[in-house]
Amino acid sequence: MTVALPTVDAPCAVCGDSGADPVWATPDRAFAVPGHYTVVRCRGCGFLYQRPRVRDEHLAACYPDHYPRHQEPSPRMPIKGSSGRRRAARWALASGLGYEALRAARVSLLTRLRGRRMLRRIRWSCPPWIGAGRYLDVGCGSGAALGVAAALGWRVAGIEMDDAAAALARHFTDELHVGDVLTAPFAPGRFDVVTAFHVLEHVPDPIAVARRMLDWLAPGGLLIVEVPNAGGLGARLFGGAWAGLELPRHLSHFTPATLETVIAKAGGTVIWTWHQAKPRTYLWSLSAWLRDRGWNALARSTEVRLVYGVLKLGLEVLVPLARRARSGEAIRIGAVRNRPA
Ligand SMILES: [Zn+2]
Repeated sequence: MTVALPTVDAPCAVCGDSGADPVWATPDRAFAVPGHYTVVRCRGCGFLYQRPRVRDEHLAACYPDHYPRHQEPSPRMPIKGSSGRRRAARWALASGLGYEALRAARVSLLTRLRGRRMLRRIRWSCPPWIGAGRYLDVGCGSGAALGVAAALGWRVAGIEMDDAAAALARHFTDELHVGDVLTAPFAPGRFDVVTAFHVLEHVPDPIAVARRMLDWLAPGGLLIVEVPNAGGLGARLFGGAWAGLELPRHLSHFTPATLETVIAKAGGTVIWTWHQAKPRTYLWSLSAWLRDRGWNALARSTEVRLVYGVLKLGLEVLVPLARRARSGEAIRIGAVRNRPA
């Protein structure tokens, strides 16, 4: 593939305004899809989005066969390891996330302390237990999140565009729609938890997709959405070299505020926002930033194991600060459907 893919010059998907100013422009840094791609800021509402963008019917060509989310899944199982560790994980799930079925009669103080330490990580890898345990993962890839949910007792279903990835996800469920979110046949109100991890930034119409996901929620249900944070420290520091840009695959670049607007326009309300920051993403951004300045030797040195290790160690200290400053590299929101007035 050496010819740039056909593009469309679409206005802001959030407010419809056609006025926009360029902010960042980059080639495809990850998979070398030909072309140069630009992110603009809407003059009407401030939304950051790719414009022009690859036409809908060519978007699949932006994803190579070795796209990471399509590889063999590696679910991050919470209950594993020694019997002490498993007891602590069960306690954390029962006490912190509502998994009453995992509650043990007697739990030692040591197990509670250990469980409390595990809770933060477990919150990121396991959905809270809600309602009747019916779970849908939108854009499930090869099924890592489905595998975790199924192991925790959820009845799981998935939606995935990519055939090969969906074939792997079938390992966890027969209820798998291969194709577009908007054409998935699930009935409204069918699920207690719907998740979309790093999906909404890939779709041409995020409001329509968010509305569809909210419609699938049963009363009391929770929608969980995670996207890169274009309002975070990394985007501010590295600009066009920020790893979250991922052009041309990321069509929308949300901040906490614009994601909230999208959810509101889709008929929902954001009830919490979490920030995540991992050293890795800053190091990817730094490496691209150095390359953009022609400092290739320096960029390569950040990939040398020792230098990478030292930088990573420094960042391990700094990233909790970014999280606390609510300026993380990814944001995860929980949203509920608004009740009809
Ligand atoms: Zn707009």
